[in-house]
Formats: sequence, C-alpha cells, structure tokens
Amino acid sequence: MIQGNACFHVTCKICSETVTTSPSLSEVPELKTFLQRKLSDSDTLAKTAYHLYQLRKNQWKKIEELKKIQLRRLKAIVTYAYYHVPYYRKILRSARIKPEQVKNIDDLRKIPITTKSDLQANHPNMISNGVDVKKCTINTTSGSTGTPLQVIADSKARHYSIALLQYAFFECGLRLRDKLVSVEVRIKTGKSMLRPPIGVGFLGRTRLSWMNTLEENIRLLKKIRPDALYIYPSVLLQLAREIRKENPAEINPRLIFSHGETLTPRCIQLANSTFDTRIHDLYGCAEFNRLAFQCDRQSGLHMITDGAVIEIIKDGENVDYGEPGEIVVTGLYNYAMPLIRYRIGDIGITTDESCDCGRSWPLIKRIEGRSSDFLVLPSGQALSPMNLLNAMDPKYVKGVMQYQIIQESKGSFLVKVVVNQEFNSEQVLSIQKRMQLRCYGEDVRVDVQAVNEIEKDKTGKARIIVSKIARPRI
Ligand SMILES: [Zn+2]
Repeated sequence: MIQGNACFHVTCKICSETVTTSPSLSEVPELKTFLQRKLSDSDTLAKTAYHLYQLRKNQWKKIEELKKIQLRRLKAIVTYAYYHVPYYRKILRSARIKPEQVKNIDDLRKIPITTKSDLQANHPNMISNGVDVKKCTINTTSGSTGTPLQVIADSKARHYSIALLQYAFFECGLRLRDKLVSVEVRIKTGKSMLRPPIGVGFLGRTRLSWMNTLEENIRLLKKIRPDALYIYPSVLLQLAREIRKENPAEINPRLIFSHGETLTPRCIQLANSTFDTRIHDLYGCAEFNRLAFQCDRQSGLHMITDGAVIEIIKDGENVDYGEPGEIVVTGLYNYAMPLIRYRIGDIGITTDESCDCGRSWPLIKRIEGRSSDFLVLPSGQALSPMNLLNAMDPKYVKGVMQYQIIQESKGSFLVKVVVNQEFNSEQVLSIQKRMQLRCYGEDVRVDVQAVNEIEKDKTGKARIIVSKIARPRI
C-alpha cells in the first residue's frame, strides 16, 4: 500500500474506497515522484546486477580472454574520445595519433599523459559533446594531492561503479543480509540513498558521520552491531583504539573494508587485535571508483581489467614487475568524461605472480606514496587528515585551484590557496568555518593566504598537509 498523501485509489489494493476519478500522473506529483523513484531504483538495481554478473563471470576467464575484452573496450573509448571530446581530439592530433593506430595495449603509451591539473584547466573541453551534465553524476574530490576536481559520470558509469563496489564486497565474503556501516567524513548520519528490497541489508548501508563525537559513533555502532565496516584506515585506527578501552565484543564486524588511504601494517595489527575480523583493502579514487581489491588470500590487490587499464610508469616508460612507479589509469566505462592515461598521483608496484584464489585479474603487490599522518588538536585529540581534506570540498569552497594546509601550532592553521576569479571573501569565511567544524569545534585559528603557487618539497611533490609540530602517536 502506498502511504500518506500518495495513497490514491488507482493503485491502492487495500483501500476499499470507491474510485471516482483517475487523475493523470502529472496531476498527482507525490504519486509521480514515488513511481519515478521506484522505477529509477529498479532500473539501477537491474543494471547494477547485470554488471555484477559480468564481473563475477569474467574473473575466472583466462588472462588472454580478459586482455581481449580490455583491448576491445580501450579501442572503443579512445575512438569515442577522439571524435567527441575536444581535449582528447586536440592532444591526439598534436601527438599525430589516430584511434585506429591503437591496436594493442602497448600502443596506449603513444598517447600523452593527462594530469589532475590538465583536468582542472581543461574541464569543459574534457566533457563529451552533447552530454547533458544535469543527467550525470558529479563526483567531487577535495583531492589528496591538493587539486580539487569534478568528474562527470554518465548513468552507465554510475551503474558500473556501484557494481564494482558490490562485486568487491561479495568476493570478500559479504552476504546479502549483512548490515554494512560506512564511516565517512560527512556531516549527516543516515541511510544510503539506494532503497533495496527488504532483507538485502548491505545495499541499504548506514552511513555514519565521522564528524559525530567518538562516543556518539560508538553508541550508534553498538546499536547497529554491523557485520561489516567500510572505513578509512585513519578513522579505523581511531575507532579501534577507543573501542579497546570499552567492551570490544559489543562491536565486532566480521569484515572490514578499508579505502581512501594506505592501509598500514599498524592499522591491520590494531584492527585484528581489537576485532575478530578480516580486513580487505579496496583501492580506487574518485575519478574511477574501485580499481583493485584484496581477496581473502591477501596476496596483493586484484586489478579489475574489465573497467580500466592500469599502467605503472617511471620517466615515461612502463616499469618492470616489482619496481615502483606512478599509477596511470585509463577508464573504460565513462563516456561522459573519458579519462585516458590519467595520472592519479599514487605510486604502485605490480607483480606477475598469480593469486591462489584462482581469479585471473592481475595483481598490484603494493600501493605506496599516500600519507595518512594524523595531526593533533589543542585538547590532545588526534585529527585525521581526511577531516581537513573534506573541509576543502569544491562543492562548498569555490575558486580554489590548489591548496596546502599547514599546521603552525596545535591551535593554528595556515591554508595557502591558489585561486581563480570565483574566489572571494565568502570563500575565506567558508574555509575558516568548515575547518573549525572539522576540528571538532575546538578553538583553532585558521588563516587563509592566497599564493601564486604551492611550494614543492624535496621530492618534488606539493604536499597537501604539512605539520610543523610533532605528530601524535595513534
Ligand atoms: Zn586472489
């Protein structure tokens, strides 16, 4: 039965009132909205289920077959980008490359690399011609490298992204009825936007805001008793440390999925000694969603070749197995904003070893180069860098091209910003307010300084968070 105002006799099988009129959908906005939402949910579930089925089937195929699928998709997206994306048409032409010259995966190397700065500087020209952005999903990221970005994704890419995440969850042992809690650096605590059929617990995952106090989150976790947690390693560290002081048995997830930061041995060790659990690292980024996952054999991270081509390069050349290099990704699904040979800013090492699990997806041995160092607040409380990165979300702070947050003392921060014409005094106030909020309301001073460029450190990287005081021991 449809509830409340939307209980119109035309569709209500329980109500015994006589139907005297049959209003059209346009005259019944509540009913229209309700049906549209249900149709949209069914559509999302059906398309996600299709991709999920394909992923689960393809993982057992021979590596040669996987390479053929990957090459077919690569050729298709390069051709599409050449004819429909002004940015790629320009760079392919300037490199004197035509799409038909990409005949194998190695040919991809002929295409110049695109950086985060390129994406930012050429944003409108990187959207495919004719795309209605209003019908797309916009993924924003404050950027772990300090370059705020917006990536436009079409509905197919969105469905594929949802399927990728669900695929990784399933393969790591999540069951349909499991209660999944996602601990995020968000303001609102609540249920997932996806409304699953009754009984499918994990699809309706509960989101917990890390901006709640620790006590509040622990109270909520005790109430929910999650079977699985989806969480940043730095947040997991704080949570595990606090739970150890209480009664760990009350919160004991069977599975933990870490994402967004490097999963350190210290984090694994603390989580394993706090919970009776198994941790799986899910690697990805806002631009491409999930790219690789760790199965229960934990021999590395399986690269999902159906959705992306992952290259490891150094000085423009592909490196050998076992050698560290920059991770460069070509997405194979998003036609609204194709990203070809996109440097995501992480360092990784691949291996030619295969995994005992039997899945054919090749392996990343290790992800390196991302820092999840904590800061310390005046009260002594540790602060996850994710809190500060979230304060600079481009949805709320406009006109910032790049930034760096420097902790001068426990109670003072300096935010250096490289800005464009959209930036004004309101944005300064927004940064100060959002930073203070994310420092748990503690008395901290936040100064904002516009600069021409962010200085790079000795390694040539512009570090996003710099602390001039001793880091806390987590
Ligand atoms: Zn495996």
